[in-house]
Amino acid sequence: AKVLVSGVNGYVGIWVASAYLEHGYSVRGTVRSIERAGKHIKDTFAKHGDKFELVEVADITASGAFDEAVKDVDLIAHTASPFHFLGKEPSELIDPAVKGTVSILESVYAHAPTAKRVVITASIVSVWTYLIDSPRTFNELDWNEQAVNLVKEKGAEAGPATIYGASKTLAEKAAWEFVEKNKPSWDLVTINPPYVFGPPIHEVNSADALNTSQKFLFDILTGKLPEDGYETVSHNLVDVRDVAEIHARAAELPQAGGTRCLISAGAFYPQDELDIANSIEPKPWDGLPKGRPGVTKDKRHLITVSTDQFDRVYGFKMHTPAETIGDSLKDFKARGWIA
Ligand code: NDP
Repeated sequence: AKVLVSGVNGYVGIWVASAYLEHGYSVRGTVRSIERAGKHIKDTFAKHGDKFELVEVADITASGAFDEAVKDVDLIAHTASPFHFLGKEPSELIDPAVKGTVSILESVYAHAPTAKRVVITASIVSVWTYLIDSPRTFNELDWNEQAVNLVKEKGAEAGPATIYGASKTLAEKAAWEFVEKNKPSWDLVTINPPYVFGPPIHEVNSADALNTSQKFLFDILTGKLPEDGYETVSHNLVDVRDVAEIHARAAELPQAGGTRCLISAGAFYPQDELDIANSIEPKPWDGLPKGRPGVTKDKRHLITVSTDQFDRVYGFKMHTPAETIGDSLKDFKARGWIA
């Protein structure tokens, strides 16, 4: 079977393509520019011979952009969408997120009669909101309407994280609405991860050039957050290799069809991640900061994620945070980013 993976040069996208190849699929990956992004990807997948091919989709927001790319594919994994906190205008994120999603679905609908399932890399930010006063566990019935409303009211003033949240919420809603309205012969699966951490295999030449999530982990582990940043806001994390594996299994498991799947390896304060890193033996890096060990011991997390649906549909053992963090540190060291 053949899978189309959009955004195959991204941190998540290249791991997702790799998982499909390991599961025996042929993969057609898309990038905006083969000239800019092609060599590293082709080198990475050279061992898979003609089971991997790379095509260009220069503007994912254009109607019909994926018409050629979807031909003869059995599955589609849509990962391409901006994830950064640098957007000045909401449209910088919302347009590619929403139009990119609708455009790939339209192309599948019109030009991929062999397609059985579309898997979208959604996000936990289309589920939860930080605008709550007391701790809450979110599940797959929740939608981050607050981000959408805030961006509607305040535009750019809503702030970059809220803009990102709105972009992912609107894109995922557009996908479910497309399916509801058009009743295609294929079904839809969304995977909704929190912060994705773990060693990158995409092209990245400096720590500063890391993708948003892994750069956040780098900053945590190298002591770059402001002091109160280690103990005031917690987040959930998941390993990039597990995110990729879930995409591959999403293609295979009948019961995955039609589900939004929240995933998480747990909620952590950055200090907890430092504590975990410091407990790894042998020590991955002598320079690891200690922070203030134990300071979060009695703190509750504002947000936790229900993984009941993950357990029901996928139910495999994910990497432990110690593995994710330990392997990330090893990778930073191997690249010479920590000495
Ligand atoms: P990266 O920045 O590493 O990858 C983003 C991918 O999307 C790249 O292929 C990029 O291509 C493409 N892309 C971004 N903007 C555009 C655009 N305007 N037009 C066309 N393509 C675009 O980020 P991640 O790998 O982390 O993100 C991949 C997906 O995973 C996204 O959908 C993101 O929302 C989702 N996600 C990520 C999480 C994480 O913690 N990393 C958590 C939850 C969800 P190019 O290089 O050409 O810009």
